[in-house]
Amino acid sequence: MADRIGRQGRASIHVGGEWVEAISGEVREVLDPADGTAFAVVAEGDGKDAERAVLAAREAFDRGPWPGTPVAERAALLRRVAELLVRDRAELGLLESLDAGKTVAEGLTDIDCVADAFRYFADLVAAEAPGRVVDAGSPEIHSVVVHEPVGVCALITPWNYPLLQASWKIAPALAAGNTFVVKPSEITPMTTIALIELLAEAGLPAGVANLVTGPGHTVGARLAEHPAVDLVSFTGGLVSGVKVARAAAPTVKKVALELGGKNPNVVFADACATEDGFDTAVDQALNAAFIHSGQVCSAGGRLIVEESVRDRFVTELARRAGRIRLGRGTAEGVECGPLVSERQRARTEEYVASALAEGATLRCGGKRPEPADDRPESGYFYEPTVLDHCHREMRAVREEIFGPVLTVETFTTEDEAVALANDTEYGLAGAVWTADAGRARRVAGRLRHGTVWINDFHPYLPQAEWGGYGHSGTGRELGPTGLAEYRETKHVYQNLAPKPVRWFTG
Ligand code: NAD
Repeated sequence: MADRIGRQGRASIHVGGEWVEAISGEVREVLDPADGTAFAVVAEGDGKDAERAVLAAREAFDRGPWPGTPVAERAALLRRVAELLVRDRAELGLLESLDAGKTVAEGLTDIDCVADAFRYFADLVAAEAPGRVVDAGSPEIHSVVVHEPVGVCALITPWNYPLLQASWKIAPALAAGNTFVVKPSEITPMTTIALIELLAEAGLPAGVANLVTGPGHTVGARLAEHPAVDLVSFTGGLVSGVKVARAAAPTVKKVALELGGKNPNVVFADACATEDGFDTAVDQALNAAFIHSGQVCSAGGRLIVEESVRDRFVTELARRAGRIRLGRGTAEGVECGPLVSERQRARTEEYVASALAEGATLRCGGKRPEPADDRPESGYFYEPTVLDHCHREMRAVREEIFGPVLTVETFTTEDEAVALANDTEYGLAGAVWTADAGRARRVAGRLRHGTVWINDFHPYLPQAEWGGYGHSGTGRELGPTGLAEYRETKHVYQNLAPKPVRWFTG
């Protein structure tokens, strides 16, 4: 791994097949969230570096071989990338853990999911019909609808699932025949840099894949506004997403936004009627809220539980949350890593303080843990926190916290449960727990969220669309729609027997 990190160093910007330093010569230290120390240095690009990368991607799209490469060859390349990811799985999983603070087990799972995304889009594109012949109502007309790559794609990604989010964009963009510039989060760039190396090793022509490391307000903003970019696909927070949409508007490029969530986990009492049911619902509520320290766009941070089981449910949940083993993601036996940055921890602390000031009851957590061997004081740790007696007017209930904080609200009727679950400006994901099959389908049908889980939380499938209603975004990733985002649609109408129209008689 030292080899991979060392190989890039200051020259972490990839333009037209070359690894280069930032034009300004600036660098940024990449910090390990477990202790706040720098473990790598990367180039700190700016708008000029973005410009250079866009022009390389434009050149590769307009004059390079990739857009015209046969679909079978493109699919084969994506499959080779998946094989390389499997080969380097251990190294990449560890790198993701170091960079984002997650446990190595989580990092490895991410890499498996990244490989799945490449395989899925390879299979999808390889199995497709090349176009759709349309019945034009006359044997003298041949009419066909075809799909073409959209062009140069700007792909902007966040820090919580650095390589996974990048793969949900890069794999379909390549499958469809585009060229791209990817901008990883400035705080977690390492695995995306590694993926660009793997793409070259798999045989992707120079200039197709470009990468600029650096901040959002310079690199990201330039990519979003650039007239030579045809599509911008952004995953990140609502505030940045709105800026991206604004920057993209004057050039009328395609925009896809995968933004935040405030995701309800609705538990009906009947789901807890048996001991097994209770245990499963509690266990999954814990997982929903605290995996990756809650830094998940679909985190189930809002528990909405039926009043009659609330006490028992929340007591058990808080007991188990209090036992989650916090520590450095690379340490043996650790279940949850630190938050990604001091900023993210301060934000979490502020939300907890505001909820307590507004009347919430602290059931566990609510503070930084005591330092320990695998938990240095300089790391950005925060205890899993359960806040009971919350209500929808609280900021902690309405806004995305992106930390290990679970708020608890209660209901007594099905209508009330649905109203609470839909009372959010977001609409990314939600779950309903019930033993009543009819209720499960009724409630799932009424939830205004892009993914609804019934008696589960968090799984996604590469073959099923992912994305949000409301302020959670526009467009979808994964599934056939996730490929369609990276395409233009063209209708080719051919007159096989042309003759004058004589609309004008003169
Ligand atoms: P962020 O919005 O701060 O940053 C995301 C990316 O956008 C980064 O690369 C950043 O540098 C860049 N950026 C920031 N300002 C920009 C600007 N003005 N123009 C262009 N680019 C800009 O988000 P984050 O803190 O990195 O990630 C956390 C957020 O991402 C959360 O809100 C989370 O819910 C969301 N997220 C959503 C999904 C999803 O699938 N819907 C998945 C993962 C994360």
